Amino acid sequence: MAFGPGQVHKLAEFLTSDSLTAQGFFEFEGFTGDLPAKRTREFQAWVQISVGCNMSCSYCIVPATRGREVSRTPRDLVSEVERLALDGVVEVTLLGQNVNSYGRDLPRDRRITFAELLARIDAIEGIERIRYTSPHPKDMREDVIRAHAELPSLCRHIHLPLQSGSSAVLKRMRRTYTRERYLDRVAMIHEHVPDCALTTDIIVGFPGETDEDFEQTLSLADEVRYDGAFTFAFSPRRGTEAATLPDQVPHEIKIARLERLIEVIQRRAHERAQRFVGRTLEVLVEGQSRTDPTCLRGRTTHNKVVNFEGLASPGELVRVEITGATSQTLTGHESILARAAS
Ligand code: SF4
Repeated sequence: MAFGPGQVHKLAEFLTSDSLTAQGFFEFEGFTGDLPAKRTREFQAWVQISVGCNMSCSYCIVPATRGREVSRTPRDLVSEVERLALDGVVEVTLLGQNVNSYGRDLPRDRRITFAELLARIDAIEGIERIRYTSPHPKDMREDVIRAHAELPSLCRHIHLPLQSGSSAVLKRMRRTYTRERYLDRVAMIHEHVPDCALTTDIIVGFPGETDEDFEQTLSLADEVRYDGAFTFAFSPRRGTEAATLPDQVPHEIKIARLERLIEVIQRRAHERAQRFVGRTLEVLVEGQSRTDPTCLRGRTTHNKVVNFEGLASPGELVRVEITGATSQTLTGHESILARAAS
């Protein structure tokens, strides 16, 4: 049983209903963004810009449980973020299953693109950082990529889910892009925003994935040099097309491929992170370091975690001199110098 996100305000009613009357709970009625928000950190907030998804990836249950994509109006979103900014929020993360198809379902007189939405949110006083998740490579347009270079508060980080480096596997996944199209988007990102951090999601062992298909994923990961990645061994989800596909890959092969992929991702991420050493970066302080209680922890615009010596408070933006880097984290100390270029 699944429960649609547009019905969260009816959760109690749903839990006490029988399976017949539960049917209506999958219909979309409202956004969780309209409900009173509880935030883990006072200075960060998540803002849902759309629900549902018009894609039909063969391994995903979302289209069946969340329905077609429905966008909130730009006016609603801007006023919500204005309220959050007045409440002390400095960083917002915009949420949607496919954020860069935002607005296509809105009436013509209220329709704006995702790039235009980013510009309107960037203009809100007090918002220092904007993040979003997730874009779909099919809809990743040049205007959004350029916005990362042009809008001061849009972070220099793009999470661009790959899933597979083999066009044949991508086709069976129904991802609607090819390896070439994906690499073309990556080239565009590097051209417009050279310092942009790039992260991804990759699934290994999708049904029918051959050794050659996997080698293509490995070579793409090596070529792109991601700053980080979430890697998964394919696990069939009941109710999806992929669960019924022939040629399921044996578990031990999936694990062996996953280990090889993680080695490439970590090696490349470690190399990429060295570009930060010796630089002074702006860091949003999140609290105490998890590994060393005498240090603080925060994040750069590239979404890199930094453990550093300093005296700042959570929610403050400070300059940190970076002295070390691993594939996962940076280390450094708070700069005593005035604002420097990041
Ligand atoms: S785009 Fe994302 S949410 Fe939509 S079907 Fe594909 S995996 Fe699922």
